[in-house]
Amino acid sequence: MKKKRNEKILIIGAGLGGLALAQGLIRDGFNVSVFERDESPTSRSQGYRISIRALGMSALNMLLTPEKMSKVSMAKATDVGDGYTCANEKMEAFFSVPQGQDAAVPFLRSELRSLLQEGVNVEWGKRLVMFEDDGDNVIAHFEDGSYAVGDLLVGCDGGASTVRELLPIVYQNRLGSVPTVIESTLATLGGEIERTSKWNTLLPLNKIGLVHYLGPNSHYLGVCFSERNDRSPTVFWAFTEKIEDLKAPRYQFDQGLQSRIRILDHCKQLMRNEPWHENLKKLVYDTPPEAIMAPWFIRTTRFSDSPQFPMAPTGRVTLVGDSAHSMPTQRGLGGSNVLEDARLLSALLTASQESIDWPSLMEKYEKEMFARAKIAVQESENAAEYFRSLRP
Ligand SMILES: Cc1cc2nc3c(=O)[nH]c(=O)nc-3n(C[C@H](O)[C@H](O)[C@H](O)COP(=O)(O)OP(=O)(O)OC[C@H]3O[C@@H](n4cnc5c(N)ncnc54)[C@H](O)[C@@H]3O)c2cc1C
Repeated sequence: MKKKRNEKILIIGAGLGGLALAQGLIRDGFNVSVFERDESPTSRSQGYRISIRALGMSALNMLLTPEKMSKVSMAKATDVGDGYTCANEKMEAFFSVPQGQDAAVPFLRSELRSLLQEGVNVEWGKRLVMFEDDGDNVIAHFEDGSYAVGDLLVGCDGGASTVRELLPIVYQNRLGSVPTVIESTLATLGGEIERTSKWNTLLPLNKIGLVHYLGPNSHYLGVCFSERNDRSPTVFWAFTEKIEDLKAPRYQFDQGLQSRIRILDHCKQLMRNEPWHENLKKLVYDTPPEAIMAPWFIRTTRFSDSPQFPMAPTGRVTLVGDSAHSMPTQRGLGGSNVLEDARLLSALLTASQESIDWPSLMEKYEKEMFARAKIAVQESENAAEYFRSLRP
C-alpha cells in the first residue's frame, strides 16, 4: 500500500463504479467509506453476467492489486460463449459475431461485485437523501438520520442518481454543467431457469453466446447461458418493452413473490399474443416466479454543447458511472465506461499534491470523463437505432 493520505472520500453506491473506485483509492492510501441503500449485499439480485471490454479490463487492472486482479479473473463466466447473435423472434439470425472476436470478457455480476467488496468498508442500509458543502467539507445525510463528513463525495449511485438530482438544489446558480439523464422509455423484465442439456438443443444460437431476439412491437428478448454464484448452469432471459405507464403494477417491484408473479404473467401474456418461437415461449413459460428479477430501466443522457466544469463549484462533489452517463445497453459499453471513470478519478487523486486544488482536479476529471462518455452514449444510441431498423 502507498503512503497514507489524509483525505476522506465518501462514495455513494456500492455498485460496479463505487466498489471499483473504492478499491483503487484504498490501494493508494485514501480513507474511503462506501454507503449503499440496499440492506445487505444479497438483498437484491445483481442480474446476470456483464461483458467488460478492453477499456474496462485495463481500468480494472490499474485499480486492483495484482492479487485482487487474479481473484477477479476467477469471476469470469465459463462455458457460456463470448460470441453474439442478433436474430428475429422465429430464431432466424440476422448476423453473428463469432466467439473470440468481440474481445469482451463475460463476468458473473454478483461474483464480480462480491470480489470488489473485499477489503472495502461498505455501510449497508444507508440511503443518501441530502448533502451539504461548506467549501472545506462535504456532509452526506442518510434516510436513517445519520450523517458522514468527508473531503469529497462521489455519486456512484446509478442512473436514477440522488447525488445528480441534488446538485442543482445545493449549488443553484453556481452550478456547472450537469448532464440530463433522460428517464426510462424502455424497461427490461427478466428471469432465469435451470440450464439442463435440453436447452443446448432448444436454443442452438445461444451456444456461441448472448442472443438478442428482436420481436414485433419493438419487443426484444435477450437470452444468454450463464452460471449462478455456485457455478450451477442457468439460462437468463430479459424481455425489453416500451414503457407506456411507469406506474403500472409490474414496475412497482418490492422483492416479494407477488411482484415476481406479476412480471412473469405479463411476459407470458406478451409472448402468447405474439408470434415468438415455441422454444422461446417455453423459456418464459417454464421459469419459476421466484427466479424473476427486479425490472431494469434503460436510460440515456444528454450533455451540454458548451459545458462548464466542475459541476460543483467547490469541486467537492462529482459523479462516476451511470449517474453521469446512462446509456442504452445494446453495445455493452456502460460497465467499461464506469470502470474507466473510476480509474481516471483514482489516478488524478493519487497523483495530486497533499493539499488538493479540488476545483481544478475535478475540472480535469469531468472534462475527460464527459468527453469519452458522450462518444459512448452516441455509439450506444446508434446501436439501439440499428437494432430497431433490423426488425421494424
Ligand atoms: C440489462 C442490462 C445489461 C447490461 N449489460 C452490460 C454489459 O454486458 N456490459 C457492460 O459494460 N455494461 C452493461 N450494462 C450496463 C452496466 O450494468 C452499468 O453501466 C453499470 O452496472 C453501472 O454501474 P454503476 O456503479 O454506475 O451503477 P449501479 O451498478 O446501478 O450501482 C448503483 C448503486 O447505487 C446504489 N444507490 C442508488 N441510490 C442510492 C442512494 N440514494 N444512496 C445510497 N446508495 C444508492 C444502488 O443501490 C446501487 O447499488 C448493462 C445494463 C443493463 C440494464
